[in-house]
Amino acid sequence: MYRGYIAPKIYFKCTLCGECCKRYWIPITHVDLLRIYKKLNIDPLSFITFFRKDLTTGWDYPEILLEDGEYYMILSKRPDGSCIFNRYVGDRLICKIHEIKPLVCRFYPFIYWIDDDIVKFEVLDKAVGFCPGLGQGPPHDFEVEYRAVIEIRKAKEEYRRLVERWNKLVERGVVDPSPERFIRFLLNACLDEV
Ligand code: SF4
Ligand code: SF4
Repeated sequence: MYRGYIAPKIYFKCTLCGECCKRYWIPITHVDLLRIYKKLNIDPLSFITFFRKDLTTGWDYPEILLEDGEYYMILSKRPDGSCIFNRYVGDRLICKIHEIKPLVCRFYPFIYWIDDDIVKFEVLDKAVGFCPGLGQGPPHDFEVEYRAVIEIRKAKEEYRRLVERWNKLVERGVVDPSPERFIRFLLNACLDEV
């Protein structure tokens, strides 16, 4: 699929400050949802919510038709902005689901783009001076991020198809366009495949 990656020599070690988890909304796909659901066996609506598309500049995720407009599926946050999966350990905010965290969580503080089938990584401008892990530890190995790029591309393609199917059902008026019904649709469509 890709011919490899190019990354800068960057010293980075996450200090588990959790600030990036507070700063951003976390859009997820069906793959993320099912991975968490299967591991924790809890109601997806206890950890996800829906974010109105018209409150954003638009994200590279499919828009889900619900009762009153288009939404993205995201992880829930607490009132202090921390992620529903953040846990305080002393002054650190660790991720309770580190091994199965959403694919989009695996890139920070880096960004990537694709150029001629090569994945190119760079430090996110806004992370400089914000992420205390930059400049720490050994030179960073980008293998985890590279694998996540491959995985997220496939996940987004599948998720886009699923959301298109859902949106058509809503437009035809054959499903109740509620968050609960959308989650059931995703689980029914994918549980055996992920
Ligand atoms: S801001 Fe940087 S150091 Fe802090 S949790 Fe995020 S990646 Fe780790
Ligand atoms: S899932 Fe984990 S890494 Fe992602 S925002 Fe939540 S706490 Fe942070």
